Amino acid sequence: MHNKDEDDITHFGFQNVYKCEKTSLVSNIFRLVASKYDLMNDLMSFGIHRVWKRCMVYHSGVYVGCKVLDLAGGTGDLSIQFSRLVGDTGIVVLVDINDSMLHIGRKKIRNLGIINNVIYIQADAEFLPFPENTFDCVAVSFGLRNFTNKEQALFSIHRVLKSRGKLLILDFGVPTFKLLNIIYDLYSFHILPKMGECIAKDTNSYRYLVESIRMHPDQETLKDMIIQIGFKNVKYFNMTGGIAVLHCAYKY
Ligand code: SAM
Repeated sequence: MHNKDEDDITHFGFQNVYKCEKTSLVSNIFRLVASKYDLMNDLMSFGIHRVWKRCMVYHSGVYVGCKVLDLAGGTGDLSIQFSRLVGDTGIVVLVDINDSMLHIGRKKIRNLGIINNVIYIQADAEFLPFPENTFDCVAVSFGLRNFTNKEQALFSIHRVLKSRGKLLILDFGVPTFKLLNIIYDLYSFHILPKMGECIAKDTNSYRYLVESIRMHPDQETLKDMIIQIGFKNVKYFNMTGGIAVLHCAYKY
């Protein structure tokens, strides 16, 4: 492989693919899993993803009147919680690249009677279609690891955050102790794809989800990446023994 080719290659789970292909491959995965996404999230995490997301919203510091970006917001779990915090004078913008996920999110949110303060935009995290200094908070839950160019997405987030605005990233991490790591590996590689096969009739998409978790940077590497972009006061909190991690940072 020539150097130029190596520069053009990225990972899609454990496979190497051309960077220009990855976004649409990821989008196809979420189109396939969209209708079962919420059910599978609850089953695969035993409902714990709800606790992680509550913790994220708790750390957001969002209050009445804030403008919040729920980036890669999918079926809208965070948007629902943020819409209650920002009230009628604030706004939550749910951005996702995938129309199927957005459609399910919009339906779920509207069925809860939330109509006035959430808007929905289909866009790529790497090229956010907002002016500079727009949002008080940008939250990305379980989205970053799917982006083709994470640095580009972080630059794009930095641009649209207001000065003193807060970035929150919730994603999977590396478990902090060995036994948990072994159990987690067994569960991820042997049980999760089977659950995907039985419930969603789709082994490959769930195998990608597991592989993409393993290819995601560990806690310290992601922290360094966020610092390199120019964010300040970067911290992270391990949850459930490091299976999930919340990174918090500010734009000054
Ligand atoms: N945030 C939701 C949650 O925590 O339940 C959904 C997370 S889901 C695992 C990942 C989401 O990222 C999908 O809805 C997918 O369409 C979206 N996504 C992937 N790549 C994206 C990109 N480049 N820009 C915006 N959204 C993207």
